[in-house]
Amino acid sequence: MNTETRTEATVNWPAFFQRAQFHITVNERAGLPPEGLAEVAFAGRSNAGKSTAINVLTQRNRLAFTSKTPGRTQHINYFGLGEEGFLVDLPGYGYAEVPKAVKLHWQKLLADYMATRHSLAGLVVLMDIRHPLTLLDQQLLEWFLPRQKPVIILLTKADKLGRGGRLETARQVRQALVDSGVPLSVIPFSSHSREGVEQAQEEIGRLFRPSGTEITVGI
Ligand code: GDP
Repeated sequence: MNTETRTEATVNWPAFFQRAQFHITVNERAGLPPEGLAEVAFAGRSNAGKSTAINVLTQRNRLAFTSKTPGRTQHINYFGLGEEGFLVDLPGYGYAEVPKAVKLHWQKLLADYMATRHSLAGLVVLMDIRHPLTLLDQQLLEWFLPRQKPVIILLTKADKLGRGGRLETARQVRQALVDSGVPLSVIPFSSHSREGVEQAQEEIGRLFRPSGTEITVGI
């Protein structure tokens, strides 16, 4: 008689993200995929290092630069992680040269997505470690914090500051948001030095797989 064996192992997070593939570009609410699989959204000011970070986290060179091709910059771009869910690349905000009508369209789409999307399991906000929590970052957080879902802040370009500065900025950002009561993680992050990459992979991965384990059934 065959005996079933169940082996529980920690998820290999880099491999978990490496399966990411471009899925769809969305420009209006009606275009969002049906609610269902978990989504983790990435937001940040333009130039914060969001595309580079998504590429480093997924080890898929140029994946997120799909979001930068003409016609897609002000859109929501979905990357599929097989059956696990989606990484959702939200349009970078703060472009000076964007026409007002486009800004308003973007704002409405984002506010709506943040405040009402059921599948949204958590938010990753990328901020340049030298300029964290700008007014636009705060506005974005105001749309999402009331939902009391996890927020992970990546303080990007951490290689630009010394160790003391990195830790102090992380402490200040944590302090500024502690009253919100949301599950919060603030990670100094550098796509260049790779500081914080593994921690970010695990913490973002756990938004999809809270147990952090995978079970293999063998006979
Ligand atoms: P996005 O507009 O937020 O997608 O930003 P990009 O990923 O295009 O990055 C903007 C600029 O920041 C580019 O010139 C990147 O080379 C640079 N950059 C991105 N990540 C890092 C980092 O970890 N360290 C440093 N020093 N520069 C970075």
